Amino acid sequence: MNIILLGAPGAGKGTQAVKLAEKYRLLHISTGDIFRANIKGGTPIGKLAASYIDAGKLVPDDVTCEIVKDRLGKEDVKGGYMLDGFPRNLYQAEQLDGFAAIDVCLNIDVDPALLMDRICGRRVCSCGASYHVSTLNGKTTCARCGKELYVRKDDNPETVGARIETYEKQTAPLIDYYKKQGKLVAVDGGKGSPDEIFAEICKQLDKIL
Ligand code: AMP
Repeated sequence: MNIILLGAPGAGKGTQAVKLAEKYRLLHISTGDIFRANIKGGTPIGKLAASYIDAGKLVPDDVTCEIVKDRLGKEDVKGGYMLDGFPRNLYQAEQLDGFAAIDVCLNIDVDPALLMDRICGRRVCSCGASYHVSTLNGKTTCARCGKELYVRKDDNPETVGARIETYEKQTAPLIDYYKKQGKLVAVDGGKGSPDEIFAEICKQLDKIL
């Protein structure tokens, strides 16, 4: 099964992706993670991506599509994968249709009013786990792997505002795009705990698997 995870920044894509990858044995491919690894490694792609990411804008389509096409050409995706953060606009979705067979687009829907607090309070781990500061009770390490948590550089109010705007203008139209293809599965990501939302996602996915 090949899945796309769709949702605004702060909708809980990353949190649910880790759980889904485990349960359905899917390879988790996050374009944001690929860019962050390139920035850390000081690669040419990292240098190009950094200015866009810091401004809350999308990295140019040609670069992003090439990275994903390359990644999906590898042998390890054959057992199924989950794309987290790609596609993010109609052009990317159309390109993806040319080199991948997507079964399901899972949209995690969250009231925009909740997003700013969710992202600005976010603490993440390099293993992919993600927490909200209000639930950590002062802890600074990951409950899953023990590594030190950190705040993403683009998780600040200014950049988050731009990211939400980018999402609404460019990414939200993809909901209709996949609905028309009959591939959309929508889940309310604004109510309940991450585990409850995960249970709802599994219920929906199990119906079509
Ligand atoms: P994320 O970790 O998915 O929130 O992505 C962090 C940032 O990486 C985004 O705000 C964009 O600047 C960039 N990015 C990630 N995925 C894409 C994509 N599919 N197209 C363009 N830029 C992307």
